[in-house]
Amino acid sequence: MKIEIKDLNQIYPNGNHALKDINLEIGTGMFGLLGPNGAGKSSLMRIIVTLMKPTSGSVLIDGMDIQKHREKLRSMLGYLPQDFRFFTSLKTWEFLDYSGSLAGMKNRKARIAEVDRLLDQVGLLEVRDRQANRLSGGMKRRLGIAQALIGNPKLIVVDEPTTGLDPDERIRFRNILSQLSRNDVIILLSTHIVGDISSTCHGMALLNKGELVFEGSPENLVRHAEGHVFRLLLSPHEYDAVKEKYNVISTLPVESGWDVQIVSDNPPEFISTQVFPNIEDAYVYFMEHKLQTYIID
Ligand code: ADP
Repeated sequence: MKIEIKDLNQIYPNGNHALKDINLEIGTGMFGLLGPNGAGKSSLMRIIVTLMKPTSGSVLIDGMDIQKHREKLRSMLGYLPQDFRFFTSLKTWEFLDYSGSLAGMKNRKARIAEVDRLLDQVGLLEVRDRQANRLSGGMKRRLGIAQALIGNPKLIVVDEPTTGLDPDERIRFRNILSQLSRNDVIILLSTHIVGDISSTCHGMALLNKGELVFEGSPENLVRHAEGHVFRLLLSPHEYDAVKEKYNVISTLPVESGWDVQIVSDNPPEFISTQVFPNIEDAYVYFMEHKLQTYIID
């Protein structure tokens, strides 16, 4: 499985240029699409799942142009949109059964067995008879992923799956997704939450204002920030000066004032120690300092 995105542009009728000359190749495994709100992630996903035609450029999946092979591609993809909602009063299992029919599973017995297998996988077997629209927020997202998985899709696209979820549910959701990573499947995950891009993502892309600003592994993103994260112990007075001048990424109150971490191109003029960056630090560094650079690792 491979997705090849070539010179892709999306300009909405009101003139919003949501995607600007995107070129990107995505292989099997879990791939994270990261960027702030409005970066263009949903637009890119809607194009990939053939719900929207791009203004220009092309997307090939396994060499097939998505515009020319819509029906075939739709049968091999599962999609969890950002605003996934239930408008029905179907029971949880009935909803998934219905999704299975839509995905082309004609054999009722096999479908029901698959429904229960998936409900078990996403931890909803005990609530299989509850009305789907009465599930909690986290449970609804998990039912969302189950409906994206039914019919054994080769390409699974999930748009902002953890928005609005509490930390427990977020971890649970991430674990479900990473368990799905198999050799023959692409899982494309879009998020504005850096922590969602876990070590299980073999590759990632960073979008900002419609442009691709980084493509590579999460480790490489972190590597770019090495030597640019500093820890400082500051008096309240110094803290004000630092806040003015640097990108502060964390602050902890301590007895003498503040324990602060910043990202900066050069070492600050205050006494500081270098800190090994994590992915959150790297994201801030990249968004603040590297926006003009296009890097492929
Ligand atoms: P993200 O998913 O990263 O938040 P989107 O793809 O939703 O980004 O949006 C990218 C840009 O396109 C934003 O400026 C947004 O306002 C604009 N946009 C999205 N959908 C539409 C639309 N239907 N009509 C006009 N502009 C849109």
